[in-house]
Amino acid sequence: MSGPTDPKRLSERTRLVVGGRKPSEQFGFVNTPIYRGSTVLYPTYEELQARRQRFVYGTYGTPTTQALEQAWSDISGAAGTVIVPSGLAAIVVALQSCLKAGDHLLVPDSVYRPTRNYCDGVLKRFGVETTYYDPLVGAGIGDLMRPNTTAVFTEAPGSQSFEMQDIPAIAEVAHKHGAVVLMDNTWATPLYFPPHERGVDLAIEAGTKYLGGHSDILMGLVTANERCWKPLRQTFDAMAIGAGPEDHFLALRGLRTMKLRLDEAQRQGMAMAEWLAARPEVKTLLHPAFPSHPGHNIWKRDFKGASGLFSVILHPVSQKALAAFLDGLELFGMGYSWGGYESLVVPFDCSTYRTATTWNPGGTALRFQIGLEDVVDLQADLAAGFERMKAAS
Ligand SMILES: *Cc1c(COP(=O)(O)O)cnc(C)c1O
Repeated sequence: MSGPTDPKRLSERTRLVVGGRKPSEQFGFVNTPIYRGSTVLYPTYEELQARRQRFVYGTYGTPTTQALEQAWSDISGAAGTVIVPSGLAAIVVALQSCLKAGDHLLVPDSVYRPTRNYCDGVLKRFGVETTYYDPLVGAGIGDLMRPNTTAVFTEAPGSQSFEMQDIPAIAEVAHKHGAVVLMDNTWATPLYFPPHERGVDLAIEAGTKYLGGHSDILMGLVTANERCWKPLRQTFDAMAIGAGPEDHFLALRGLRTMKLRLDEAQRQGMAMAEWLAARPEVKTLLHPAFPSHPGHNIWKRDFKGASGLFSVILHPVSQKALAAFLDGLELFGMGYSWGGYESLVVPFDCSTYRTATTWNPGGTALRFQIGLEDVVDLQADLAAGFERMKAAS
């Protein structure tokens, strides 16, 4: 195998397999090995002075890092990628690469909550003002732009509550004002939403979720288009917040099967969502791939698929009945994060911290992550939970 001469001509599935690998340069071994290291040696004084070497010091990455950066940039249609130790760190690096003291930032009210904490805490302390906006604002974002609005953050669908944002409409208006458009694209991943084709300048992915895929790593990736690549890379280099070499290796391993796992998560997720929506206990399904979702048309227009994460609103139940449902589950784990092979459920309530919109779903909210178990077993687990819930009501 000599490797592809023009990877851009290959289909996405093939690029996931061949990206970031050069067996001929690694003694024939199929996978790029784990390079560990701080010091990188220079062969001569002249080379040291010239700083021409691709690798100069561990904080700027190793060949393992570079393999993942290149593969991810290729899949994302990006000018470049930086890789950091968590999804939240990716959000932080992306924002710091395009903001300075005195700037104004727009953030959707439905944003991943730790992003909000960062904006209201650290960013505020460094002189950046954040305004939260209705995620459904679309082109109306123009009314919120100020002369010092330098960045518009987006996330689609919204964390936990699944509001679907019109990213192209927001990007068009933001760009007219000269602002940078950022997107937390963790839910769809670049496989189901090509961020830079849709107008996003800086795209964030929590690699912790579907890239890792096994609930065993923490990682964040930021991709940039040509406009934002240089400031992103410079910000990353200045802060030295690279992920660890084992995690790069595990992410590269995850990349090979990511399309298979994501397609299966979509199928399994839709099967479970349909089953849940038909249950008498369920009041509303929040899944953008279903026509009942208010953002369905945007999803159909802009997205190529749906991952295995969605929410439901139950008809109101007591805390005791909810505990009876959750505590006896045998297959669904209760915990944060998602994108692994195992199913999860968490109750949530956005009403206490939203500021631009009101969250009042009229019932008890649950977020489901559907893994790779057999849906028959998953349905039986939830059905038994609903029986316990009824008995405790
Ligand atoms: C999990 C998540 C993150 C953060 O990823 P971590 O690696 O857990 O820090 C960011 N955005 C979204 C939408 C997430 O679900």
